[in-house]
Formats: sequence, C-alpha cells, structure tokens
Amino acid sequence: MVAHIIDGRELAAELKRHLGAQVQRLSEQGTRPGLATVIAGDDYPSVAYERRVRRLAEELGCHYVCAALSSDVSEADVIAEVGKLDADPRVHGILVLRPLPADVAEAAVYRALDPLKDIEAVHPVNAGLLALGRPRYVPSTPASVFHMLDRYLSSTSDDPAAVYARSNLVVVGRSSNVGKPAMLLAQARNATVVSCDVHSSRAGLLVGHTRAADILVVAAGVPELIGAEHVKEGAVVIDVGINPVSQEGTGKVRLVGDVDFNAVAEKAAAISPVPGGVGPITDVWLLRNTVWAARLAASVQAAQPSWEGLSVPGDLGAAGLVAAPASSSA
Ligand code: NDP
Repeated sequence: MVAHIIDGRELAAELKRHLGAQVQRLSEQGTRPGLATVIAGDDYPSVAYERRVRRLAEELGCHYVCAALSSDVSEADVIAEVGKLDADPRVHGILVLRPLPADVAEAAVYRALDPLKDIEAVHPVNAGLLALGRPRYVPSTPASVFHMLDRYLSSTSDDPAAVYARSNLVVVGRSSNVGKPAMLLAQARNATVVSCDVHSSRAGLLVGHTRAADILVVAAGVPELIGAEHVKEGAVVIDVGINPVSQEGTGKVRLVGDVDFNAVAEKAAAISPVPGGVGPITDVWLLRNTVWAARLAASVQAAQPSWEGLSVPGDLGAAGLVAAPASSSA
C-alpha cells in the first residue's frame, strides 16, 4: 500500500480564503479582529512561529501586536504584559508562546489571561470547558489534526462518524497543548482512545498500542519515533512533530516529524507530511480562533452579559470540528 498524502497546505489555503471573508465582514461591522503574541527570548521555533503568525494576521487584515520580552524577564513582568493586552480593546486573542523562561511559571501566566481572549484554551476555565465537552476555544494544533482527519475521512466513501466509532485511535504524547486536547477531540467523535507517553515507551508498550491503531496521532517531539513496525497496514497517521535535525556532514538543519515518513507511507492508508502537514493549518487556525474571539467580544459589547453567558451564532463555530461556545451553565 502506498499512502494518500494529506496536504496540509491545501487545507490551510482553503481555510484562509474562508477566514479572509470573515475578517472583512467583521471589520465592516466595526470589529477588526486583533491578535497579540507574547514571546520571551529567542527560541528559534517560537520566533519562526511568531513571524509566520504576524505575516498571516497582516495578510488577512487583522490587528497584530507582539510583546517581545527578554529571556530573563521576571514572572511579574510577563503577567503585567498579559494584563496590558487583556485591557487593550483592539486585542481579541492572546497567544503566549512557549517556552517561557525557567523562572516563569506557565500556569501563573495562563491564569492572568482574560478567558475571553485565551484562544489556545490554556486558562483553567477554558481548559475545563474543553474537558467537559463544551469548549469556548479549541487549541489550534489539535483542532488542525482533527480538521485533517475529518476532511480525509469525508473524502473516502465511508461515513466519518461510523469510521471514528469503530476506530482504535492512539495519541502518542499527552501535553496540555496537543496530546490531551487531541484525546478529548477523539472522544468527542466516539473513537476508542488510547494515550501513550514516554513511560509507555520505557515500558516497551508503545509498539503494541500503536500497531493496534486504526488512526494514529503522534505528538511526542522525538524525531522519527514511529517506524513502519509501529503501524498497522491501512492505518491513518497524523504526524504533529516538528523537529529540527542537523544533516550529517553539511550541518544543514531540516525539519522532520515524529514519524519516519517514507517507511510508514508504504503501509498506511493516509499520512500527513512534515513539513506541509499539521503546521500550516495550525497557523490559520490560530487566526480562526482570533476571529471567533472577536465575535465573542462583539456579542459581549452588544448584549453586555457576563462572559459566562455567551451564545454566539456561528458559521465559524462547529463545522463538525469544534463545539459551539460555552453555554450559560458554564
Ligand atoms: P511536549 O514536550 O510538551 O510533550 C511531549 C509528549 O510526548 C509528552 O507527553 C511526553 O510524555 C511524550 N513523549 C516524549 N517522548 C516520548 C516517547 N519516546 N514515547 C512516547 N511518548 C513520548 O511537546 P508538545 O506536545 O508541545 O509537542 C510535540 C511535538 O509537536 C513537537 O515536535 C512540537 O514541535 C510539535 N508541535 C507541532 C505543532 C504544529 O503546529 N504542527 C504545534 C505544537 C507542537 P510525558 O508526558 O510522559 O513526558
């Protein structure tokens, strides 16, 4: 079997076209969506991500601002920056880029976010809503994984809901930003979900679980962790990993995923590449969440309810991918 390659760039371009129209319509109605990023230090992947997101925001006509802080910034100063962005009415969504300096507690910074602007659902309230199955925002990377899966499964002759319901879906990696929310999105689709982490590998259990997967999502941050021996014939494999690896001899850096693409493509029914897979969709999804946040903010302004009581009519919302915003019982 030679796998179908799920093209993330094509899916991202399609989402971007849709989003451009949304931004224009909202701006004409007086709400120009605004995104802010907070970055501390010069970690290469974070700097590159910030640059891509800035370009995309500007291209779509969104307001964009970046709080670029030094690598030795204090926790109090990061929280103060977040507070300024919380108070800035031009900003609807805030992304705090990882890694933060070692002395800055991520949890403290996340708690400082206005939950309405927390587009990556890292504030405990939004993480809780997601866990309860009533997300206000779905973090962009796991949302992109399931956008890929939903679209791929829809393109096959089977009913995607039925495929999920009869699938063993294995997620390798359980970080709060990728692996855990991916498990929640898989459960929401009625898949039978198994979570693997570094302990599964150390205990020699990884291969047994991954070989049983009909759908395999890998987000471990370990270059080419998953080889052909880890994959069942005909599985659908989504590779989230982005790992910079120096080429022997030249020292040139290239990006590889967590999956050995060439080997696994011989066995899988479908596979996402790195680069050109989940990454491009994630970039656009962050802006999609920003637009969603701008709509929430506009509805708050119009109705003046407490933030718990939001209900926003949405053509950006569910689309079979993300649930509607939290209801008043949140
Ligand atoms: P984290 O380092 O936060 O989490 C890694 C997870 O993988 C942990 O749960 C860890 O287990 C698990 N893990 C590590 N090694 C192994 C192993 N040998 N076997 C099984 N599980 C293992 O990373 P992230 O979740 O933030 O990111 C994961 C990857 O995805 C990275 O390559 C990152 O660059 C990429 N990424 C890509 C994005 C995109 O848009 N495409 C966006 C975000 C991330 P434990 O919990 O036990 O430590």
